[in-house]
Amino acid sequence: MADRSSIEWTEATWNPTTGCDRVASGCDNCYALALAKRLKAMGAGKYQNDGDPRTSGPGFGVTIHPESLDIPRRWKSSRVVFVNSMSDLFHAKVPKDFVHQVFQVMAETPQHTYQILTKRSHRLARLASELVWPPNVWMGVSVESADVLDRADHLREVPAAVRFLSCEPLLGPLPRLDLTGIDWVIAGGESGPHHRPVHPDWVRGLRDHCAEQGSAFFFKQWGGRTPKTGGRVLDGRTWDERPSHAAQACLSR
Ligand code: SF4
Repeated sequence: MADRSSIEWTEATWNPTTGCDRVASGCDNCYALALAKRLKAMGAGKYQNDGDPRTSGPGFGVTIHPESLDIPRRWKSSRVVFVNSMSDLFHAKVPKDFVHQVFQVMAETPQHTYQILTKRSHRLARLASELVWPPNVWMGVSVESADVLDRADHLREVPAAVRFLSCEPLLGPLPRLDLTGIDWVIAGGESGPHHRPVHPDWVRGLRDHCAEQGSAFFFKQWGGRTPKTGGRVLDGRTWDERPSHAAQACLSR
C-alpha cells in the first residue's frame, strides 16, 4: 500500500499537507524536497504546486489537502502513523484552523498512534495550548546539531503523552542536550549522494546520555549513499528501544 512506510520507527505515513521550505542545515539534503520533484514529474496530484526555488523546489510548495483528512478513518487496522513525512505541519503557511483539524482527526481515531515531527518548534510551542493532546499523539522535534537545542526546550512545554527527538541527520556532537521530559531519542546518519558522515562517538554520546537520563534510544542507520548502506549496528548490536509508558498502550492495541 502506498501509505506503508519503510522508515524503521513507524508503519505508515499520512500527509494532510505537503511541501516545505528549508530552515536549517539539517534541511540541506531534504529527502522530501527531492522526492516531491520526482512525484511532480510523474504527475502526482498532491505535488503540482511549486515552492520558492531559493528554499523549496518543484512540487514542494506548501499545500493543504483537506481531502486527505479522512484517510486515517478509512484504515481498518490500527497503525503507527508518521504525520507529514512530506511536509512540516507547523510551517507558517499551514493555517492554524487546518492544524486544529488534523489534531481533531487524531483525537477521533484513537486506534492509531500518531508521530508528528517538526523543525518549527517556536510555532509548535505557541499553538500547543490551543490543541487537544490525546494519548495517541506523540510529538517530536528535530535536533540535528548543537545550534538548535532550543527546539527541545520548546518541546518540553508541550503536553504530549510522548515527547521525542529526531537527531537525524546527526551533524555533530550534542553533549549539552538536556533530556528532561524527553521520552525517546531517534538517532541516524544522513543518506543520499551528498550525505555528511556521522561520527560514531556522536551516536555513542547520545546513547549514553539516554541511558543516564532514562530516555529510550533508537539508532536508525549510519547512512551513506542509501539508507541501508552503512547498516544500523552500533557496538555489536542494534538499538531499538521505544518509549515505555503511554506508548506501549498505544502500540499494543
Ligand atoms: S523542515 Fe523537514 S521537510 Fe522541511 S525542508 Fe527541512 S527537512 Fe525538509
